[in-house]
Amino acid sequence: MPNRKSPPGSALVIGSGVVGLTIALKLQARGVATTLVDPGDPARAASWGNAGHIATEQIEPLASGKTIRGAWRRLFWRGGALALPPRGIGAWLPFSLRMLAASRRRRFDAGTAALRSLLAAAMPAWKRMLEQAGAPELLREQGHFVAWESEAGARAGRAAWGAADTGTTSLRDATAEELAAIASLLKTPPAGAIRFAGSGQIADLPELAVSLREAFVRAGGIVRRGTVRALSGRGDAEVAELDEGDSLTAEAMIVAAGYGSASLLRPIGYKVPLVAERGYHIETAATDWPADLAPVVFEERSMVVTRFTSGLRAASFVEFTRQSSPPDPRKWARLRDHVRALGLRFDEPATEWMGVRPTFPDYLPAVGQSRRAPNLYYAFGHQHLGLTLAAVTADMVAAMVSGEAPPVDPAPFDLERFRSGGAAG
Ligand SMILES: Cc1cc2nc3c(=O)[nH]c(=O)nc-3n(C[C@H](O)[C@H](O)[C@H](O)COP(=O)(O)OP(=O)(O)OC[C@H]3O[C@@H](n4cnc5c(N)ncnc54)[C@H](O)[C@@H]3O)c2cc1C
Repeated sequence: MPNRKSPPGSALVIGSGVVGLTIALKLQARGVATTLVDPGDPARAASWGNAGHIATEQIEPLASGKTIRGAWRRLFWRGGALALPPRGIGAWLPFSLRMLAASRRRRFDAGTAALRSLLAAAMPAWKRMLEQAGAPELLREQGHFVAWESEAGARAGRAAWGAADTGTTSLRDATAEELAAIASLLKTPPAGAIRFAGSGQIADLPELAVSLREAFVRAGGIVRRGTVRALSGRGDAEVAELDEGDSLTAEAMIVAAGYGSASLLRPIGYKVPLVAERGYHIETAATDWPADLAPVVFEERSMVVTRFTSGLRAASFVEFTRQSSPPDPRKWARLRDHVRALGLRFDEPATEWMGVRPTFPDYLPAVGQSRRAPNLYYAFGHQHLGLTLAAVTADMVAAMVSGEAPPVDPAPFDLERFRSGGAAG
């Protein structure tokens, strides 16, 4: 792997989701003349449609025996959140087989250790990032709740969370006052709830996008509208060819294009078993959910409800299908059913959204420096944790690009783990 001794003069970051945007800001702040290229259609990027949860408790990778054992129960047609549509079998079958292999005990333990180190650094990294962006108020470190509607659900849920490794977070039973606050929003009081400390939320995702982008531009960064079609190397620099016909050259190139990263890297020899893991939300501007109440996961419904500055969002579903398939309106209808059954005030018109989590079968991201193309770096595949992990990923990439040791060991996130015959392949 080529090793830099000093920061490059210029960098090009491909993708302006939360991962690309945070990397661009960190590089520019270090004095690297950075350009950020993106087609500029933020509406569909997962980064701005997610649940806003800084999920530092989720250190056990979803590639696990627990997930596999619970899959049958969670299928969409049985009322659950897992959708494996027949027309998407070409996407989900190979993914499921790889995930099965990644769920073996040894690999699960290694994945847990890897996520533990990333997630331990996630919250401090966000604090520094948002201070740098001049918007510290966007980080709310008030934890989150998990609530259950049935006694049996509460018993099973408490036992499962009590036994789970939750990293740097801690959990306790919700107090009577907290239970009453949640109950006041519901038709029926919850059978139980726990509260995490050490997790958090981003107060508003559109505001986050604006704050990060403005800080990047203020620091001298350039935002360029465009879609990268192909990458090539020139020895001392990397070249990105745009659909529009132009090309952009930089001393360091960072691929941070979410699900779009796979098609950019395959032609240069990478095996990238990335899947489009789609999720849905509905959002209303009119709600009585208190502005300061932490997000609540209604665990029996696999639904998280988050109060953003701009409204109330209910998000759910893991749908494995082709990225280009049209959204399935039954998912939005199901979210409305959940909200109605709970008795939440969720006035129409509610907006409907579907977006893609970029997910690898081992549920670890790819963050590193390429061994195939000098000056090429990558940061994508953050699955359910891309918002949580964006800031620490940016710290890692900015350090690597500058020739410094990254704050977290990047070895478990090396894309070469998927090479043919490799342990993760
Ligand atoms: C319903 C749902 C809820 C979620 N909840 C949470 C949560 O609470 N907490 C959490 O941490 N994570 C959550 N996630 C996951 C999180 O949203 C993602 O992991 C994260 O947004 C990925 O960010 P990204 O920047 O890698 O990708 P994206 O947000 O997809 O951004 C990629 C960008 O790259 C651009 N791009 C693509 N191809 C090209 C190209 N060829 N040239 C130029 N640009 C290109 C795209 O236009 C896009 O702007 C959730 C996801 C979903 C779907």
